[in-house]
Amino acid sequence: MDFTGKKALVTGSGGGIGKSIALLLADMGADIVVNDVSIDNAQQTAKEVISKGRKAIVSNANVVNDTQVREMFESIASEFGRIDILVNNAGITKDSLLMDMEEEQWDQVMDVNLKGVFLCCRYAAKMMSEQQYGKIINISSASGQIGNIGQVNYAASKGGVISITKTLAKELARYQINVNAVAPGFIKTPMTQTVPEKVEKYLIGQIPLRRAGEPEEIANAIAFLASDMSEYITGQVLSVNGGMYV
Ligand code: NAP
Repeated sequence: MDFTGKKALVTGSGGGIGKSIALLLADMGADIVVNDVSIDNAQQTAKEVISKGRKAIVSNANVVNDTQVREMFESIASEFGRIDILVNNAGITKDSLLMDMEEEQWDQVMDVNLKGVFLCCRYAAKMMSEQQYGKIINISSASGQIGNIGQVNYAASKGGVISITKTLAKELARYQINVNAVAPGFIKTPMTQTVPEKVEKYLIGQIPLRRAGEPEEIANAIAFLASDMSEYITGQVLSVNGGMYV
């Protein structure tokens, strides 16, 4: 796979899975828009992208903020002139059992995980449709496919990401834009660092491959879907979960 000359935006790429995606795409030749609410983390990822000989734009747009997302795409247009790959990776959890969950926990998760994807897709689609080329990959989750106790907000948002993916695959196909989702299972990142040991043991017991996944293993799937090797694949959900959900 060769991404030389391609321009990729990875939201939430200051750490975790997003950082692995940004660095893998850069390894394969892409210039990267590093987006994260944590500017220091975004700058660190950008430094590593540049050290690989690629260009990087840093944006600390909050993906829930329409104005900030618009400005991010304006700087992409002026500095890169195009966007070939959008990876909607930024996501959060605010877990609680249903009866303890506050409205705010619901709203925050829906905002980042769903509205953020909507806004970034909307601006990217405008540029990609003019180019008649684009690859959009949304990060869903096994929770969105099979549900998970304590994650009614998160599971609903990630199920929604799958619906966005299927709808946009149909809507944007006429512009030669492929839209797919990757649904990770249990992956070792800052997001899962706070999972209690007992729960982690239980979760790994549910995984036929008997281990958590690495961020790089999600990045590998993204690279395939971002490449022209997956030209005839659109509207699909690629589960990368060690067999947790089959
Ligand atoms: P992570 O380590 O928490 O990384 C997420 C990144 O997104 C963080 O750098 C975070 O910044 C950034 N971010 C959060 N809200 C943002 C916003 N509004 N705008 C821009 N950036 C924002 O999580 P991860 O595990 O790498 O998860 C990446 C994606 O994979 C998420 O969509 C997640 O739901 C999904 N996923 C993860 C797992 C897993 O097991 N780890 C499983 C299934 C799906 P701050 O940290 O500074 O807030």
